[in-house]
Amino acid sequence: MKKYINVFIIFILVFSCKNESNPETESIQTNPQKAEFSIIIHGGAGSIRRDNMSEAREAMYRQKLEEAIRVGHNILKNGGTSLDAVQSTINILEDSSLFNAGKGAVFTHEGTNEHDASIMDGKTLNAGASAGTKTVKNPINLARAVMDKSPHVLLSRDGAETFAKEQGLEIVDPSYFSTEKKLKSLERVKTSEKNKVASFYDADLQNSKFGTVGCAALDKHGNLAAGTSTGGMTNKRWGRIGDSPIIGAGTYANNNTCAVSSTGWGEFFIRGMVAYDISALMEYKGLSLEEAAKEVIQNKLPNIGDQGAKGGIVAIDKDGNMAMEFNTQGMFRATMNDKGELYVGMFNK
Ligand code: ASP
Repeated sequence: MKKYINVFIIFILVFSCKNESNPETESIQTNPQKAEFSIIIHGGAGSIRRDNMSEAREAMYRQKLEEAIRVGHNILKNGGTSLDAVQSTINILEDSSLFNAGKGAVFTHEGTNEHDASIMDGKTLNAGASAGTKTVKNPINLARAVMDKSPHVLLSRDGAETFAKEQGLEIVDPSYFSTEKKLKSLERVKTSEKNKVASFYDADLQNSKFGTVGCAALDKHGNLAAGTSTGGMTNKRWGRIGDSPIIGAGTYANNNTCAVSSTGWGEFFIRGMVAYDISALMEYKGLSLEEAAKEVIQNKLPNIGDQGAKGGIVAIDKDGNMAMEFNTQGMFRATMNDKGELYVGMFNK
């Protein structure tokens, strides 16, 4: 009997340990009643843990995530488009220094702030993106203008800035983006690099960076859209561009499947074409959004390269089901459905 009890205890221990290290998987199932509209956002994935965040800071994040998602939700509730909801929601997060996008963007190796963004329309598969801009206050607005007002999909650096000015977008002095906290992060990373403690390619270092913002939405007209905006990764150099402005990697939307916004170690998200891969698994293999998101983030992504690629996604499908999938310790995230039910999360459950 004792032997059986011991085996049972070992089983319980193994099972509970496994659960503890398990990454987060959350999906909000709205079927069989299709949602009329819904919206989901992220504010970056990484080592976001309850034990290293003060209550005051947690409250600040909650408040900002809620403020942002309510803006998009209102647009959808009033019959607005998913594209407008995505753009306006991201604007709120870009204007907050809490996130690594717009105002709170991280610093490059050279001490500048360089922004990447993209947006995609699931109805037309039209898309717009911008990379490496330094003076455009809201990079997601530039991405939207590239989509709506130019024949191109991706504009970069000086050319993108010229286009932004021509379109009358708000231009700011580069110092607008400079924040004390992100400058300190750069100094810390540079010191570690100098002491050979870590490099840009160090997995732990990458996992400690977060704050990219993204949004996916389904509107009352049945149209999906997604968008992503970021300052990239601390200490990036040589004009490095991440996944966020790459359609199919950082952002993807298709009315036949889903809308996805990614966050994490961009090099791997590009190599894995993460956002499109989720859509492709749904389209070609008939997987549900939940299954596709789990397969890509938990099974495929960690096997790209040998560094243990980290990150997550938020996504919404054509029926309004939502998925938040990440293999990091946490991800800032929020959802709101057509009943006005709000969910805000940060940590692993
Ligand atoms: N994916 C972004 C990049 O690689 C960073 C992030 O999401 O934290 O530029």
